[in-house]
Amino acid sequence: MLAFCAVLALAGCGGTEAVPDAPATSAPAERGARASSGPPPVESTHGPTGTPAPRRRGALPPVVNHGPRTGTRVALTFDADMTDAMIARLRRGEVSSYANLPILTLLEKRKVPATFFVTGQWAEQYPQVTRRLAANPRVELANHSYEHAAFTGDCYGLPRLPADRMTADVARTFRVLEPFGGRQTRYFRFPGLCHDEAALRAVAPLGVTVVDGDVVSGDPFARSAAPVVQAVLSAVRPGSIVIMHVTEANAQYTDEALPLILAGLQRRGLEPVTLSELLGGQPG
Ligand SMILES: [Zn+2]
Repeated sequence: MLAFCAVLALAGCGGTEAVPDAPATSAPAERGARASSGPPPVESTHGPTGTPAPRRRGALPPVVNHGPRTGTRVALTFDADMTDAMIARLRRGEVSSYANLPILTLLEKRKVPATFFVTGQWAEQYPQVTRRLAANPRVELANHSYEHAAFTGDCYGLPRLPADRMTADVARTFRVLEPFGGRQTRYFRFPGLCHDEAALRAVAPLGVTVVDGDVVSGDPFARSAAPVVQAVLSAVRPGSIVIMHVTEANAQYTDEALPLILAGLQRRGLEPVTLSELLGGQPG
């Protein structure tokens, strides 16, 4: 996500040229630290049905970076970005797909649990793929905004979403996703992980749990699988939330990296689970 959005700002949202991923992968840590400097991580407060539990009026939503550091569980998460600029490139035929289907096939065949943060525009662009995700009993669906715009200033050059549209943007994606059924959650990930108090306040009425993550794979625009595998396996530990992308043209080696990542997790005795399983059995 982070690296992706950093690159997206240059190569996807604003311009058309691909850029090396190296500068982008250095920025995420800073962004992650900044983005996470607000409310301390807390666990979900939602009920077992996915319905948000009552929360103190005016309270900010929980922000989760990772799960329990004890045990062996980790969560693999895949972001499905879709900006207006990406839609335009699809329409112009400049890219063939932003849906990495081999990832879905691998997760299905190996019965690996995962959580997908889907933008409303990606679900609308790929309804059949979204149906396939929802039909996988080991996949949870989560919200990654509608149009992948920035909820703060200075978010990798992503176009900024006006403050008065933030709540509606996220609510719209829940409305887009809900008819697909499957394992719906109230987990929400900000584009670029960029959030401040105003952004958190905007999404609070929706009863979301905000999910950042502590392991940035750097898969966007990676030039091979190896650095993606290295980035994940060098940082992953019990409780980790690993951020990857299912966006194919913008993250071409994720499906190639995934089997190696799974093998590495197994060597370390780490077990992929859904986010709700990682965070205490509560679906968002
Ligand atoms: Zn994203």
